[in-house]
This record gives sequence, C-alpha cells and structure tokens, in this order.
Amino acid sequence: MSPSAAPTAQGGYIGRFAPSPSGPLHMGSLVCAIASYLDAKSQSGQWLIRIEDIDPPREMPGADADIIHCLESHGLISDGPIMYQSARSKAYDQALNTLHDQGLTYYCQCTRKRLKSIGGIYDGYCRDKHHQSGALKLNIEAAKAKGTNLEQAFEDGICKALAQSVAELGDFVIHRKDGFYAYQLAVVIDDIAQNISHVVRGQDLLETTFQQQLLFELLGKRPPEYCHIPLVMADDGRKLSKQNGAPAIDSGKPEQNIKDALQMLKVRPEGNTCESLLANAINAWPAAKAALRAQAR
Ligand code: GLU
Repeated sequence: MSPSAAPTAQGGYIGRFAPSPSGPLHMGSLVCAIASYLDAKSQSGQWLIRIEDIDPPREMPGADADIIHCLESHGLISDGPIMYQSARSKAYDQALNTLHDQGLTYYCQCTRKRLKSIGGIYDGYCRDKHHQSGALKLNIEAAKAKGTNLEQAFEDGICKALAQSVAELGDFVIHRKDGFYAYQLAVVIDDIAQNISHVVRGQDLLETTFQQQLLFELLGKRPPEYCHIPLVMADDGRKLSKQNGAPAIDSGKPEQNIKDALQMLKVRPEGNTCESLLANAINAWPAAKAALRAQAR
C-alpha cells in the first residue's frame, strides 16, 4: 500500500504502534513496536504508527520525529499516514458529546486530597452535583441503567483470559480538568477511526482494556482483539520507561537492537540486515507467541 493511502476496513488485520512522545524510543518500546509489527505482518496485515501526543506537559519537543526516524532506521515503516492525536480534537469532542447526550457523563470537582482520602475507586460523589466544569467522568451507574453489560471479559493473545466488573473500577476520567483529553477516550476513538482490529502492546496497559472495551460498547463499536506482551524490566526490577530514564535506543546499531528485541520476544534472530531479521521473525512469530503464551498462563 502506498504510504499516503489510509487502510480501510475490509475485515482484514490492521494493527498499530502508538507511542507517546514523552522521550526517545527505549528498548521496552522497541520490543512493543516489533511485536505489534510481527503480529500484523504474520497475518498479512497493515501496521500503523500513531503518535499519542495529547499530554503536552509530559511530552518532549521533537520526540515524535525522533521516534519515527528511529523506527524507520529499524525497517519499521507505517503502512499508512501517521496519525497525530493532537490533530484529533474534533473527533474527541464529538465522542464526548455523544456520551454526554446519552446522559453518561458528569463533571467532577473533587480535589486531589478527597480522591486520595477515599482510596482507589471513585465513590460517585459528584454524579448528582450538576457541576458545569471540572474533570469529565464516565458515569458507570448510568451505563448500567441503560442495560450496558459491566462485566467485561476478554481473551488475550498472550495473557490468561481476564474478566472484570467495570463497576468495581469506578467512574473514570475521559476529559481532564486541565483541558486535555484522557488517554482512555483518545485511544478508543482512534482505534475506531483507524479500524484497528488488533492491539498489541505492553502488559502495563492490560488493566486499561476493560474500560476501553466499555467505551467501545457505549459507542456501539466492536473492540479489537488484544495481546499484551511481557514488559522489559530494568536491572532494578522496574519496568523500563521514559519516566525512569530508560536509555534511548542507539539508531546507529539497528541490527543489534532488533536482535536483542527479538530475543526478548522468544524469537531466535536470523539474518544480518534489518530486513532479513524482520522477514525471518515474521515466520517465527506464531511459535514465539505461543511460547510467550505458555509462559504467561
Ligand atoms: N501511548 C501509550 C504508551 O505509549 C500506548 C497506548 C496503547 O498502545 O494503547 O504507553
């Protein structure tokens, strides 16, 4: 497909890698990018890059271009235009209106201190306060009253089958008090817009899937298939992340980086160029995925 044409829904596989530009690509994100790429390509699918730049306070100027360039230098090229979440306000507003019109949202003005004092799950205190500003939350009780199934379950491509009542997770923010759109909203709206059929991402996002599935259901759409891959850990046992200063990938040695990433995905690297390493890994991926699954269950 030419890079200027957007993939369309024809019942085929469309996957994506959706980095937040809060810093340069590190080994953990390269592993995710490669896993999502291999999963798509091993099923003759399209693979898209989406830049999730809706949280400016956490972003680093230029990180988007840096990430895209780094992916390209590893032979990982988007099969369609790269979507930027910062250009998607209209679509997010539309979705917020749809949810609002169905009586599924309310503004919450609880302070950080109050939220902390009630513990992890929000108690719905602002549901009937009719505030006109604040953090916009999804009203789980209202969703239930409309007959929405709150028992969300899914078969993951790697992790064991999961089920969770979203009522136990509580009302969650879909538009932040500071005016920024919440990740949970944006990710669902864009997965819908891009006809994403399969989401392959790190296990740190496993729990977010239940709320995302609920949003799909409330918007009358079918959620994609999910596959959560094991996280790459730093030597101190913490997840590698931009926040804890994971070192940036060295774009000057892409072959070695791909080999390291493949090993973490239980794929035996074969080849000496990015192209041959990836092509061989595509063939090896179904067995590697089964090995990751066996390890996770
Ligand atoms: N933007 C998110 C991140 O960088 C990933 C979102 C997703 O894959 O659903 O952690």
